[in-house]
Amino acid sequence: MSLSNRENNIRKIINLEDRIGSCNRCINTTPCVRKPSLGKGELEPELLVVFESESLGREEVITIRNRIRDGLNIDKIYHTYLVRCQPKVCTSRNNVSHYSFPKLIDNEDNCLLTGQACSGLPVPANYDEIIACMPYLIEEIQILNPKYVLLMGERVSMFVLKSLGYYDGITESCYEYENMKILVTADHNKFSDHHCQLLKININ
Ligand code: SF4
Repeated sequence: MSLSNRENNIRKIINLEDRIGSCNRCINTTPCVRKPSLGKGELEPELLVVFESESLGREEVITIRNRIRDGLNIDKIYHTYLVRCQPKVCTSRNNVSHYSFPKLIDNEDNCLLTGQACSGLPVPANYDEIIACMPYLIEEIQILNPKYVLLMGERVSMFVLKSLGYYDGITESCYEYENMKILVTADHNKFSDHHCQLLKININ
């Protein structure tokens, strides 16, 4: 019996998530990450949103998704991340950085060094971490094959566009990749109804 497109997507996304879940490419970051961030939403999406990392909270993600849904009249939305493991800076960790630990955080987000809630401060991922994680995002986009991919912010846009073969910087607000439209917009913390209106030009 052949699988439906949706069942195929579920199977492929589960396989991808298993690999992300056990990934240890960024050995300086993973000890302080309870589990990598995974994509969420409609598995046959019309629009796939890419955030830089899970540094924005759940409420902020919901607000942005609702703004897109209402502003662009698109219901089938999936969101995901450029980098799955949020890097942090932490003085407790720095004091023991010459040791190597597989995990320094428990299932309740408590630090195993201090016995208290993790106090690490989120910082942007560096070039190596972004490049290490990029194949997961490209694979996820290809599996879900949305009509639109929405890149939130300049860093996300620059790295993703280069990976898709656009090397000349961000010169447009819309690019073509295979059968998809790749849309560039503001960073998640600046994204407004005005940006939604601008996106409408490239939505048909
Ligand atoms: S950030 Fe990405 S590449 Fe790095 S360890 Fe996490 S899942 Fe792997």
